[in-house]
Amino acid sequence: MGLEPISGTPDPNGGDCVACGRCCHHGPRTVHLLEPDEERMGKRRLELYTELDTRPPYFRFIKNEGERCGGLDVSQPGLYPCAIYEHRPEDCRIVDVGSPACLEARRLGHLGTSVEFTRLP
Ligand code: SF4
Ligand code: SF4
Repeated sequence: MGLEPISGTPDPNGGDCVACGRCCHHGPRTVHLLEPDEERMGKRRLELYTELDTRPPYFRFIKNEGERCGGLDVSQPGLYPCAIYEHRPEDCRIVDVGSPACLEARRLGHLGTSVEFTRLP
């Protein structure tokens, strides 16, 4: 899953995110939406880019076919822009450039878990 890892410090202004895209490579059910996210996305984008669990409590996630977010535009080789950037969920907004999750994604080539990334219980 993912891309080759990238070394070096990420651009603090986020200028290299489109050339990186590592944090947008992850497994299904990673980017979930709460009500404010759904409102920001709007009906058309919700239909195109998200799916709703078929069982209660009916969580909604960005579509993902296995190795990257369905919101990622991979139409241009080597570039990884988000097709819904202005409308992306809060889950994405909290991954700041240079944050632990960003650095982990760049180190692994994808956003996942490793022995150096410990979730609090
Ligand atoms: S891993 Fe960091 S530098 Fe790469 S796209 Fe995500 S936030 Fe940007
Ligand atoms: S919605 Fe956009 S920013 Fe969020 S993981 Fe998907 S491609 Fe990346």
